[in-house]
Amino acid sequence: MVSKNQSVDAIADAVLAGHRKFGENCVQEGTEKITHFRKHHVDLEWHFIGPIQSNKTRQISEHFDWVHSIDRSKVARRLSEQRPVVMPPLQVLIQINTSGENSKSGAKFDEVKALADNIDQLPNIRLRGLMCIPQPATNYNNRLASFAPISILFKAMQATRPRFDTLSIGMSDDMDAAIVAGSTMVRIGRAIFGVRNYNKNKV
Ligand SMILES: *Cc1c(COP(=O)(O)O)cnc(C)c1O
Repeated sequence: MVSKNQSVDAIADAVLAGHRKFGENCVQEGTEKITHFRKHHVDLEWHFIGPIQSNKTRQISEHFDWVHSIDRSKVARRLSEQRPVVMPPLQVLIQINTSGENSKSGAKFDEVKALADNIDQLPNIRLRGLMCIPQPATNYNNRLASFAPISILFKAMQATRPRFDTLSIGMSDDMDAAIVAGSTMVRIGRAIFGVRNYNKNKV
C-alpha cells in the first residue's frame, strides 16, 4: 500500500490491520518512517516508488528493500555500489514511460533491454520486473489498452529472466484494468487511506 503523505499513526493502524508492504515516493519522508518503524517492526517491506535524483541513491540504498523507479544505468550502478554489505540485495524494477511524453520519468521502451542487461551485471541489486504509471484514462477499455504494451514486454522478458516475476502496475483508479493486464503488484494509496492530506505533520 502507498503510505506517502500518511502519518506514522495512520501507518501504525495499517500495520496492526496486517499490512506489511509500504510504498513511499519521497526519500526524506520515507527514510524517517523506515527508521521509526524498524525499531519495532523488522518484518515490514519498504518500496521506493518516486523519481530518483542521483544524489539521493545512497539514502535509498541504505534504507529501502525495493525500488520501482529505476530508469537509467547511472542510478542502477550507484544503488548497487552504495548497498550496505550487511543488507540483502536491493530488489528493483525498471520504470517505463508508457505515455512517451519526454516530461515523464521512466525509460523508453527501446531502452529497456539494454538497461536490464546492465542491471544484470550489478552485484547488489536484483532485477525483478517492470513498473509504469500510465496517463489517467477515462474508461476501462482505455486503461486496459494503456497497460497492454508493458504487459507484452514483461511476458517476453520473463522468457529469458528466471527471476522476473513482478509487474507493478495499477493504482486506486486503474487497478481493475491492471489486474486483468497481469499486474502482480498494485500500488494503492487513496483507495485504502482515503484522500491524502498534504498539510498533515507526517512523522
Ligand atoms: C501516489 C502513488 C501511488 C498511489 O496512488 P493512489 O491513486 O493514491 O492509489 C501509486 N504509485 C505511485 C508511483 C505513486 O506516486
